[in-house]
Amino acid sequence: MVAPHIGNTSNVQRKGHEHVGRIVVISTGGTIASRWQGSGYVAEASGHDVLACAAVPEGVVTEVVDLFNVNSSRLTTAHQLTLLRAVHNALADPGVDGIVVTHGTDTLEESAFLLDLHHDDPRPVVFTGAQRPLEAVDGDAAGNLHDALLTAATVRDLGVLVAFDGQVHAARGTVKVCALAPRAFADPSGAHVGDVGFGSVSVHRKPDRSAPLPLPEAEVAVPRVDIIMHHCDADPLLLRAAVGAGAQGIVLVGTGAGNTTPDIAAAVDEAVASGVLVALTTRVPEGPVAEIYSGGGGAVDLAAAGAVLTGTLRAGQARMAVLAALLAADTPAARVKTLRHVLCLPSPIPS
Ligand code: ASP
Repeated sequence: MVAPHIGNTSNVQRKGHEHVGRIVVISTGGTIASRWQGSGYVAEASGHDVLACAAVPEGVVTEVVDLFNVNSSRLTTAHQLTLLRAVHNALADPGVDGIVVTHGTDTLEESAFLLDLHHDDPRPVVFTGAQRPLEAVDGDAAGNLHDALLTAATVRDLGVLVAFDGQVHAARGTVKVCALAPRAFADPSGAHVGDVGFGSVSVHRKPDRSAPLPLPEAEVAVPRVDIIMHHCDADPLLLRAAVGAGAQGIVLVGTGAGNTTPDIAAAVDEAVASGVLVALTTRVPEGPVAEIYSGGGGAVDLAAAGAVLTGTLRAGQARMAVLAALLAADTPAARVKTLRHVLCLPSPIPS
């Protein structure tokens, strides 16, 4: 194991020919595993086929786990909990130096963040994928996978990461920002964690992380968590429908700094009173939600109704935070406390 530099951008020197890492590659599908199937691309390549596209960094030895093979828009919480447990099982072997997860880019930020909230190990879990299919002549799979392997063999104590297009991102805060271009991921409200190039990893900062949650129990019931986006003309119908459908958590995507209408604030009040965990984010790409506007369904009113503001987390990751809180705690007050914990917010003042 070779320590990366933290706090500057100088390159990490890897030692000559010695063994630098035993990495478990967990394959889950996505474009990085996709081939043309007549009318479109479908995830179908095995983990070994995916790995065969990449140059494995010198000194890195790999093992492959074929966990599932789906486009990531089809993933469910059940898949994500299976992935969480697969990572945990792989890390139970002290001879493993790190994990790489190959994953579709559509929901990569959600799986990576859910795993980060439960990751209690100095060894890294590095997610990667591709915007172009496995065998594309101008593809990005090979480079991204090489960089993920190098990162997994090199860094420590950074939690769950995303290696993509020569950059390393913290799981927390990272979102898919471009539908097709190779630079698919960024944290619009923060800096990336490092860069990969010329055979080395440079780490610029340590990600902000909450103390890890315990792993959810094996047979846990998966709670329904819905995302509802505000817009001109929106009324509380969908929010109330979500509660009626049994949602235990709701992520409300406000406009601006987290604003809606008085009717929606009233529906949030009802939902919270019935035990639903409500989180507030924004449909704006960058910057935090903030308690600025009141009296018209603004974030001040929504917070007063019991919604928890999610800082700079966008909807997909806010939903993972709510899901993790619901899986970890079973009373409304404990769930709010856990949600605030994973959001790195201070505990609420007891009333
Ligand atoms: N459809 C793909 C997915 O599984 C997109 C990708 O992997 O880039 O998310």
